[in-house]
Amino acid sequence: APALIPVALHGIRREDLSPAARRVCAGLQEAGYKAYVVGGAVRDLIAGIPPKDYDVATDATPEQVREQFRRARIIGRRFKIVHVMVGNETIEVSTFRALHDADTVTDEHGRVLHDNVYGTQAEDATRRDFTVNALYYDPSTEVVTDYHHGVADLKQKTLRMIGDPVQRYREDPVRMLRAVRLAAKLGLIIDPAARKPITEVSELLENVPAARLFDEMLKLLTSGYAVVSLKRLHSEGLHKGLLPLLDVILNQPQGEKFVWLSLENTDQRIRDDKPISAGFLFATLLWHEVLANWTARREKGEHTTPALLAAMNEVLEIQAEKLAITRRVSADITEIWGLQPRFEKRSGKMPYRLIEQPRYRAGYDFLRLRAESGEIPMELPDWWDAFAHANAEDREGMMQPEK
Ligand code: ATP
Ligand code: MG
Repeated sequence: APALIPVALHGIRREDLSPAARRVCAGLQEAGYKAYVVGGAVRDLIAGIPPKDYDVATDATPEQVREQFRRARIIGRRFKIVHVMVGNETIEVSTFRALHDADTVTDEHGRVLHDNVYGTQAEDATRRDFTVNALYYDPSTEVVTDYHHGVADLKQKTLRMIGDPVQRYREDPVRMLRAVRLAAKLGLIIDPAARKPITEVSELLENVPAARLFDEMLKLLTSGYAVVSLKRLHSEGLHKGLLPLLDVILNQPQGEKFVWLSLENTDQRIRDDKPISAGFLFATLLWHEVLANWTARREKGEHTTPALLAAMNEVLEIQAEKLAITRRVSADITEIWGLQPRFEKRSGKMPYRLIEQPRYRAGYDFLRLRAESGEIPMELPDWWDAFAHANAEDREGMMQPEK
């Protein structure tokens, strides 16, 4: 039987939840269903971190959930979930799910043998990854239902896998990345039973579809805890071979300072609720590869601009495939890199054109990071900052003589 943990022990009051999460649970409960806030939000609230979003778990089917709310739609094909909109929030509601995806149980001809994907609350808890992620909070009673000692693990700062870690990593290798990301975010020690096998089975990540890896990588880098997460990977000895991108990020002798600065900058922006773009982030992570390639080409006598274009293409061609960078993101990266040499021309009409570019701001932010890391003099971004804010007359006076 699960432990029923009272508010005195976990500390979550119903007022701590977002209004939408309370509304959705109340609506389902009034209609006679079970409904709990589950997963990351409960974990974060107990740890004293404001949740990013809320998930609700229920015994109502997706169709029954949709019936209860005016603004609700069913999404997903294989496993349906419901997005319920309340105010400007979206709550993700999922029906208790069976232990193993029963809909994938087939006979030797590939025939589907079972199609009951839904299960009991206990099964739903057991298919989750870590004990701290399998907590169910009922806003009406303020009780946490805890099947796997998650509250105790959280209080003892331990990230523990539910079930046999090796088997769970085999089922879904992305759990290795989730382990490191969540441990870093929450300041937890990864239980040795879950940590040790990672170095042995990390190559399983190679079988994960590239798009899913990219998503997970982006989650890690944009969690607001990228720097601690990556330092953690390093100190746990997990940085090699876990993901090609991590090798790129963590093994750049010349670009190290720049990469850390860029990640710190991203973490800060996320904490300040400012937008960040995947293109900008990847442009910073790969910049020093481009620089090395570009320099080598110029030393061989290639002209500046064509050498840069060739260097950009070569680096992107190698990395975009490995990292599953999408076309849209690579276009963004190319634009930001391509603007960099244009910041060196501070005469004639060029500066006027450059500040009118739609991507000027991203290019300028990138330039400033390069200066902060010591690659170029600070005087350059300072000049552009002054130029962008100056009036027409002052701008003329700022122009440098043609070289
Ligand atoms: P955060 O939202 O802070 O990144 P989270 O734990 O909420 O972390 P989500 O991806 O939002 O992560 O997942 C919500 C919940 O779904 C998790 O708390 C966990 O219970 C379950 N879950 C997510 N991914 C997996 C997985 N790969 N294997 C098993 N359970 C998972
Ligand atoms: Mg979440």
